[in-house]
Amino acid sequence: MEGCVFCMIVGGEIPSRKVYEDDRVYAFDDITPQAPIHVLIVPKEHHSDLADDVSVELMGRIFSSVPEIARIKGLDDAGYRVVVNNGEDAGQTVGHLHVHVLGGRRMSHGMVEFAGE
Ligand code: 5GP
Ligand code: ZN
Repeated sequence: MEGCVFCMIVGGEIPSRKVYEDDRVYAFDDITPQAPIHVLIVPKEHHSDLADDVSVELMGRIFSSVPEIARIKGLDDAGYRVVVNNGEDAGQTVGHLHVHVLGGRRMSHGMVEFAGE
């Protein structure tokens, strides 16, 4: 997709710190980490969000890469949080479906912070 930051990262036009890659997904360190470990997993093909015609197969491939990425980052014993910000109210800022994997510190149990009007 023209002008899409994550398509450009997948295509190597924007540099990234690769964590994991297979034929369907690419994972890299978030540029503004919100935890000691913060990885983004993106499908290689462009889908704007969860509702954008994502096949069950691709959805499975995205999520089944999570434990492998956690293992690579050494998070598998301690645990980690997996987040998808989907759409405007959730604060999605990049319109290419992505899954956040966050870990390396203990997180609050509450996940939902109100951003105000
Ligand atoms: P969202 O807010 O859409 O759920 O998450 C987008 C994430 O992409 C943010 O955490 C942001 O830091 C990250 N991000 C945006 N642009 C870039 C970039 O060019 N490189 C990397 N590595 N991360 C990016
Ligand atoms: Zn894209």
